[in-house]
Amino acid sequence: MRALVTGAAGFIGSHLSEYLLDRGYSVVGMDNLITGDVTNVQHLTGRDFVLVKHDVTNYINLEGPLDLIFHFASPASPIDYLRVPIQTLKVGSLGTHNALGLAKAKNARFLLASTSEVYGDPLVHPQREDYWGNVNPVGPRGVYDEAKRFSEAMTMAYHRVHGVQTRIVRIFNTYGPRMRVEDGRAIPAFFSQALRNEDVTVFGDGSQTRSLCYVSDLVDGLFRLISSNEVYPVNIGNPNELTIRQLAEAIIALAGSKSRIVTRPLPLDDPRVRQPDITRARTLLGWEPSVPLADGLRRALEYFRHKLGLA
Ligand code: UDP
Repeated sequence: MRALVTGAAGFIGSHLSEYLLDRGYSVVGMDNLITGDVTNVQHLTGRDFVLVKHDVTNYINLEGPLDLIFHFASPASPIDYLRVPIQTLKVGSLGTHNALGLAKAKNARFLLASTSEVYGDPLVHPQREDYWGNVNPVGPRGVYDEAKRFSEAMTMAYHRVHGVQTRIVRIFNTYGPRMRVEDGRAIPAFFSQALRNEDVTVFGDGSQTRSLCYVSDLVDGLFRLISSNEVYPVNIGNPNELTIRQLAEAIIALAGSKSRIVTRPLPLDDPRVRQPDITRARTLLGWEPSVPLADGLRRALEYFRHKLGLA
């Protein structure tokens, strides 16, 4: 069995590639490295893995049979999609179209990495898959949110028109080793600030919530979903919800840090709340997250310590 992972040099893509190799798959990783990093997959050399440097917004040419396509290529951090907004729109639209075309040509199963951002700043809490969302199309996050909403529509069209075996996962906040230290998201920012005893920057008053899933739980859910027959979107995330201030305090305590919390302006359209309703994942996939936040944060701490040269 042979799988293609677009975005394989990214945080989730690299863990997913490793998971597939461990299950005996031959894996082709594809990445243009604008936010991915080859060091995330360096440890896979010598295994049945190749990394192809390619931008999937251009036609994807791949020789040989393919059984599974995991379409994960995209910037995924708010500061990245502000930095590369047009690439973010292109990979969600043109990139998804190319990856679906490849799935059709190879008769491969296709899993789209969608996101809780399709719910925008949600007016329904927790978020169920039948909620259509509250997205500002012309705000700074619109380039990501709308690209992912378009990619879901395109995926359903390929399923309905061409009969491609498609799956859609809506990924909620995920964390763990191989997140980019400088990617600007709360987890890498708080760990690097706490470990360096610098001020920890909480945006707004810190009362906004997120629900954090450890990456190994997420990857297990992805594989269960592509192995299932479910065509409609499935949320994968950990329903354990906390405020951003609580997260900052937990990381400072865990790191044994002297850092203080300072506040910074809340970015435009920053969702006030976010928590997945995982009833569908539970019932359709028998999936449930198993890594408690304290354990996951400890593993992440070790990673960031090494990455910052402090271990
Ligand atoms: N956040 C923060 N300080 C930071 C980075 C992020 O308070 O240095 C906040 C951000 O405003 C948001 C939450 O943490 O409310 C999660 O942000 P992240 O960028 O991790 O992901 P998002 O869920 O917003 O995509």
